[in-house]
Amino acid sequence: MRSLMSLLLTISIAGVLIADPPEPSRFEYSGAAKTFLPRLHGHPGALAYRQDYPGGFVAWQESARSKLKELLGLQRIALQVGQHQPTVQMDQGTLVDGYVRHRAQIETEPGIEVPFWVLRPRGSEDKQLPVVICAHGHDADGWNTYAGVYRDAEHQKSTMAKQGDPGVQAVKQGYIAVVPATRGLAKAISIPDPKGRHGNRNCRAQLMHCLLAGRTAIGERVWDTTCLLDWIVTDLPGVDAKRIGMLGNSGGGVLTVYVAALDQRVAVAHPSCSLTSYTSSTGFIFHCDCCLVPGIQVELADMSDVAALVIPRRLLAIHGKKDGLHSSEDVERAMERIGSIYSATKVSEKFSFQWGADGHKFYPSMLWPFLNESLLNH
Ligand SMILES: [Zn+2]
Repeated sequence: MRSLMSLLLTISIAGVLIADPPEPSRFEYSGAAKTFLPRLHGHPGALAYRQDYPGGFVAWQESARSKLKELLGLQRIALQVGQHQPTVQMDQGTLVDGYVRHRAQIETEPGIEVPFWVLRPRGSEDKQLPVVICAHGHDADGWNTYAGVYRDAEHQKSTMAKQGDPGVQAVKQGYIAVVPATRGLAKAISIPDPKGRHGNRNCRAQLMHCLLAGRTAIGERVWDTTCLLDWIVTDLPGVDAKRIGMLGNSGGGVLTVYVAALDQRVAVAHPSCSLTSYTSSTGFIFHCDCCLVPGIQVELADMSDVAALVIPRRLLAIHGKKDGLHSSEDVERAMERIGSIYSATKVSEKFSFQWGADGHKFYPSMLWPFLNESLLNH
């Protein structure tokens, strides 16, 4: 069972699902781990949401955001980056199937050039359009995949089969799509793992370098996205800054949760196949190492409460029924928790959780109506 699960994890993390994963099931430990792990992980954190938090809900959000920034290492990144001002270079664009595709890059800290695509509906230069930031997960070519920039016919075929081109889907509906490379996941912006010291995984090499320097890998990704948001609202022409959404599947969904939790410029967030508890009730860790935020369970709270920092903005979580990376029981427990906090703050209609019928993928027919309701149908 263990070897099957690790095989499926390896296959999925590589971004290539060769077969449907099994029905989600919980991992059961035996021996000492069976009692130790629930005891280790099964407690609310010091800043878990509670209705009697001194100062009320807004005071809780402020405290939780401040702690989250600290735990992600964002303040340290800011100190290490110093006076550097991000700069963006963008080409003139190429006309592609009804939209213009620009290749761009943003230098988010000295020497770190994050490449990204901007897809803009043709002839929309004089309009104020909504924006969707599309954040990819474990796919070395993820920013190209999401933007429909294919290496070859097979890349295109496999992407279309799983409806994995949200940037193209967005621009065809009338959004400006911004599709950045995710640091440590895209080959174009990764630190290598020489000698395979970190399991031949660039994302874990990123995590190790970050932890040693007092950062986190997810913190670097949040930093990059925040720099990109700064540029989008100030320098990208034709943007309606009040209508910005963000989405991502898997590791891109995890990033979406953290960015939306901290940055109130994101009006709608859609984490796909990613928003759940950090651990199952048996103690199994769901996300990849590179998503780890040290101490967060104890010093802050579970991921459900981090997601509640999106309140009062809109949040759509979708999971696939056949997604072997997650457990339906633990997903539903986390969703109930988020729903209860949205209800407690009288904005329950702004949170939606849905099950998709398949595996670890986007569900366009479910996600776009939710995003369009607040971003596009104006
Ligand atoms: Zn990873």
